[in-house]
Amino acid sequence: MLEHDVLIIGAGLAGMRAAIAAKANGANTAIISKVHPVRSHSNAAQGGINAALTDRGDNWEDHAYDTIKGSDFLGDQDAIEVMCRAAGRSLIDMEHMGVTFNRDEEGHLGTRAFGGQRRARTFFVGDFTGQALLHVMFEQLIKSGIQSYEEWFVTSLVQEEGRVCGVVALEIRTGQLHAIRAKTVIFCTGGLGRVFEPSTNALIVTGDGMALAYHAGARLMDMEMVQYHPTTLAGSGVLISEAARGEGAYLLDKNGERFMKKYAPNMMELASRDVVSRSEQTEINAGNGVNGCVYLDCRHLGEKLIKEKLSQIREIGIDLAGADMVKEPIPIRPGMHYMMGGIKTDVNGLTNLPGVYAAGECACVSVHGGNRLGANSLLDTIVFGERSGSHAAAAAGELKFVDFSAAAAVQREEQRIQAMLNRPQNGDRVASVRLGMGESMNRNLAVFRQKTGMEETVQELQELKARFAKVPVENKGKVFNTDLVFALELGFMLDCAETIAVSALERKDSRGAQFRTDYPKRDDENWLKHIAVTKGEVGPEISHLPVTITKWTPEERKY
Ligand SMILES: Cc1cc2nc3c(=O)[nH]c(=O)nc-3n(C[C@H](O)[C@H](O)[C@H](O)COP(=O)(O)OP(=O)(O)OC[C@H]3O[C@@H](n4cnc5c(N)ncnc54)[C@H](O)[C@@H]3O)c2cc1C
Repeated sequence: MLEHDVLIIGAGLAGMRAAIAAKANGANTAIISKVHPVRSHSNAAQGGINAALTDRGDNWEDHAYDTIKGSDFLGDQDAIEVMCRAAGRSLIDMEHMGVTFNRDEEGHLGTRAFGGQRRARTFFVGDFTGQALLHVMFEQLIKSGIQSYEEWFVTSLVQEEGRVCGVVALEIRTGQLHAIRAKTVIFCTGGLGRVFEPSTNALIVTGDGMALAYHAGARLMDMEMVQYHPTTLAGSGVLISEAARGEGAYLLDKNGERFMKKYAPNMMELASRDVVSRSEQTEINAGNGVNGCVYLDCRHLGEKLIKEKLSQIREIGIDLAGADMVKEPIPIRPGMHYMMGGIKTDVNGLTNLPGVYAAGECACVSVHGGNRLGANSLLDTIVFGERSGSHAAAAAGELKFVDFSAAAAVQREEQRIQAMLNRPQNGDRVASVRLGMGESMNRNLAVFRQKTGMEETVQELQELKARFAKVPVENKGKVFNTDLVFALELGFMLDCAETIAVSALERKDSRGAQFRTDYPKRDDENWLKHIAVTKGEVGPEISHLPVTITKWTPEERKY
């Protein structure tokens, strides 16, 4: 049987960083990914990565404070300290590995301003930073000789003797199922963007890891905290990076007014994302937008800067909305972008399940609390990817493999999948169940929420789950059966959707990304706490966890 000390599920930035760290710590390490590693969603990151470099007059404590304020004081401050202290070294490590960050006129690493931060501390490569980081990380993965199972889809975990001791995965190219034994498993499976429709996330971002961990007994936390990004393109919902506003772009209403002066007179367009998205939606709802959008105006930045630093988003505007930002404002609106919540871990990536770790967007350490600052996510993946890889390797050194029957584990999965393939055609489609879910989430769990809307979605999710249990998989073949993969992903997404909706209903205040029109105030007395959800006998079970506060006392947030 295939076996490894440390098995990492997911080969985005978090996964590859974890793998390199685990291998460097002497573990027999493997990484598994449902797509080729450089097709992971990390590749799509545009704007940059944050770090406070002391030789640039910055310091980690300012970065930590901005992050905590951005989180609306829901982030765990011990974890934020760890991340912000490690940021400088992590960034320089990436540079030394070969990332060609933009530089300023004097030859120093260049920075751009990003939202919710008092200082420009976002390092970048044009507007394709994620791609630059991911490709360099992939080179390091190859160099280190780590075993990589590419286009293998993890369908379930194997649990014996009270431990997660391996996984079953579908080799997409052949349709063959394999069991892999592991002493420790690290989830680096990314976010769940596609639970909402539309979303800025790639179609593969379907919350698989969160759902798998949840089913195995892991605790999910802060699942109500879903980030709507202020600038997603009209129609397609594709991301227009915050880098545009970082470089100085304006947000305009239908009369050409910079409406942010009403909501964030100091930071204007660079207030934190939750604040900007809410302001835009307020204007749109008041009839001050155009076709459900407001405008992003970059014209005054000039053609030279746009071509040099924002070339990719300019092309996106031209190709997908027929608007050239050099010549005209482009229509944008808030759109689902990022999941602050996820599998609850400590600062070493360890979850409540022995030997199971998580890092990156699927994890909730929680450094983002109620609202993530732009460019803190790439940082999160690198810092906590590395920590979880090192810690899992050390833990694996103390553990023995659990002996389980690979044949039996594979057979169980084969039967489950065959039953899906055997379902009769009944007119329903995976795609329509998926769209029903995404639209319901986007209708009732978006920028503004309230009880009856969210209850409606909980109800609709039950109906969608019933349809999912019968939905046919049209392709019965073995080779690259993407129909089957989409169906399995939909199951994961429906579970994630449910945890989001019940967590949001539980939180009866407005904080960070969650704004409830029926509870419009932040209520620290009753709700300065995390909402956790675990899988119970009949459905999600909710509990509360304290927020770790080190030295920054919660205060009212103003930008
Ligand atoms: C358009 C866009 C732009 C962004 N820009 C920025 C930015 O400028 N700065 C910033 O800080 N953040 C940005 N973000 C957020 C950031 O990119 C992500 O949070 C981060 O890259 C997630 O990395 P990850 O390693 O956790 O997951 P991902 O990169 O999403 O990788 C997940 C991995 O898990 C694998 N996987 C998932 N399920 C399975 C399964 N069942 N079996 C096997 N493998 C599986 C996938 O194949 C993939 O390899 C952006 C996000 C988007 C969508």
